Amino acid sequence: MELNIMDMYSDILNVYGDIGNLTCINERCKWRGIEVNNKSFSIGSNEKLDFDNIDMILIGGGSDKGQSVVSEDLLKHRSELENYLNNGGVLLAICGSYQMFGNNYHDIDGENIQCLEMFDIETHAESNRLIGNILVENSIGLTPKTLVGFENHAGRTYHNYNPLGEVKVGHGNNDENKYEGMVYKNFIGTYLHGPFLPKNPHIADYIILNALKNKYEVEKLTSLDDTIEINAHNSMVNKLLNI
Ligand code: GLN
Repeated sequence: MELNIMDMYSDILNVYGDIGNLTCINERCKWRGIEVNNKSFSIGSNEKLDFDNIDMILIGGGSDKGQSVVSEDLLKHRSELENYLNNGGVLLAICGSYQMFGNNYHDIDGENIQCLEMFDIETHAESNRLIGNILVENSIGLTPKTLVGFENHAGRTYHNYNPLGEVKVGHGNNDENKYEGMVYKNFIGTYLHGPFLPKNPHIADYIILNALKNKYEVEKLTSLDDTIEINAHNSMVNKLLNI
């Protein structure tokens, strides 16, 4: 089996090393004998965006300016991207790229940053940024239940989609309703940088399995010895819970 994995705009949206999500997916696939073909797309790249031959898309986070430039470019491919998502295409969007899939994002001056209007999400920025380590209890059936990461965003995001989980420590979507992220089909948006996936191998596998299910109807992944990864994850959980 093989997965075609596209990292998009990582030269512009890669704050807090979000490209580490690609490294994590690549290694966890290779350790299972799943071949990975990496493609990288950004503004002006020669890479053709053939969504029919993409199995997973990863996009990181960045500045308001960066996400505005990226969404303006990605708007050229909006309908193909919409079909990709509606056909179960896997996409992980971190922070600014999560916001970018919404209807609008008003920056602290009230200016609207160009968005894709793909999902009914509203985001507005406030002057005091939401910064720090974050602990979330996932609501998508993952074990362990915990997800850890680091957040740094001015944006407050509101929507009625299923959240990725409930905030136990930190801020999340908007520091009000205690929800973090969103899940719709195989799209996951989250404010968790870190990079996110190496700190949470269980959701990395969730994303890999979704891509394999969508392409090959695979129902189960071979398990890996995640002792070191889960020990590191749990030490962060304990630190955040002051255990
Ligand atoms: N520019 C957005 C904000 O400040 C997202 C930041 C990020 O991607 N870390 O909310």
